[in-house]
Amino acid sequence: MSRPVILGAGPAGCAAAIALARAGRRPLLLEREARPAEKVCGEFLAADAAAAIAALGLDLPALGAVPIARGVMAAGHRRAAMDLPFAAWGLPRATLDATLLALARESGAEVRAGTAATGAGRLGDGWRLRLADGEVLDATQLVLATGKHELRGARRGARGGAIGVKLPLRGVGVDGTIVLLACAGGYAGLQPRPGGEANLCAALDPRAPGVAAAARDGRAFLAHVMAGSSLAECLLRDAVPLLPRPLTVAGVPYGFVARGGLPGMFRAGDQAAVIPSFCGDGVAMALGSGRRAAEAILAGRDAPAHHAAWAGRIGGAMRLAGLLGGLVTRAPGLLVAGAALSPGLAAWAARRTRSG
Ligand SMILES: Cc1cc2nc3c(=O)[nH]c(=O)nc-3n(C[C@H](O)[C@H](O)[C@H](O)COP(=O)(O)OP(=O)(O)OC[C@H]3O[C@@H](n4cnc5c(N)ncnc54)[C@H](O)[C@@H]3O)c2cc1C
Repeated sequence: MSRPVILGAGPAGCAAAIALARAGRRPLLLEREARPAEKVCGEFLAADAAAAIAALGLDLPALGAVPIARGVMAAGHRRAAMDLPFAAWGLPRATLDATLLALARESGAEVRAGTAATGAGRLGDGWRLRLADGEVLDATQLVLATGKHELRGARRGARGGAIGVKLPLRGVGVDGTIVLLACAGGYAGLQPRPGGEANLCAALDPRAPGVAAAARDGRAFLAHVMAGSSLAECLLRDAVPLLPRPLTVAGVPYGFVARGGLPGMFRAGDQAAVIPSFCGDGVAMALGSGRRAAEAILAGRDAPAHHAAWAGRIGGAMRLAGLLGGLVTRAPGLLVAGAALSPGLAAWAARRTRSG
């Protein structure tokens, strides 16, 4: 039977699957991992992500999410603090992704976990997918939600340089606060997780001194971030890594936005656009673009129109996030001094980089 097929069960793929299933289309959702795993992500969920999650009928506090009300930025000996202009949350990605996948199944999507696609090609008005086990599947429409991973026959053509590094920790006191710490080659976000843990996640230039070692070893990662500010030194001094080595993802194409595209192939999440991690809006964008891809399919609109509409919606947030991400990498002291001088301006920027 030919029907919509969704590749990738992250927030984008699950949002698309839930919307299609609730509209009675019984989509097929394929995910290469057998069970949801940790992903490189700061795990910061701002107001737009929280609203999208609530609109699905999920309750963040009931899932164990921890509230985040304050933001602090630090570079060298400078620091700036502000109350966030919206309620925000921290939730491990493995928990969020498992919950969304269960909801997709409950909503009526057929889910095949542990099934990877290896390539896609046009077949009449639809698409033909090749799976890793040799099976061939036909789809009326294809929702491409494979995150940072490219699929043969459907590459984004995005060029990226940044490396993402993530390390869950114990022994760090950041209750209710997201802390942005400038360091060589980029910046790291530090925020609470449930159970008294914290998450340290950085977006770094792989060519910067010390970054290659930081990506390989938890202690070297901590030392790299601690060298960037006196606040990091103080917060991370007693940190205990909870993984033998950090999780990493290379070649993150910050600023990429999908344009045009082929009939019947709807990009969502990081396959549609990659916002600089500085603003912590990727999950909201994944949920929003996944739902909109499903709405486009249900309304009979084609993929290029879906991509154009999404690019138009997120354009302003993408530009501002790119500017701020560039500033924190190239002139972190200036950005922190500006935020200290005008917390109102920092709150405005936090609001204007919401896009989901
Ligand atoms: C350093 C860093 C920090 C970040 N911090 C934040 C933050 O604090 N807050 C925030 O909101 N966002 C953040 N993001 C962004 C966020 O992680 C992503 O935007 C979001 O995960 C995108 O969701 P997605 O559904 O598109 O992709 P993903 O979550 O990556 O999901 C894609 C899924 O597709 C599956 N898949 C891949 N290939 C195949 C295949 N061939 N066949 C079948 N399945 C496949 C994968 O296994 C995966 O489960 C950060 C990103 C980085 C790099």
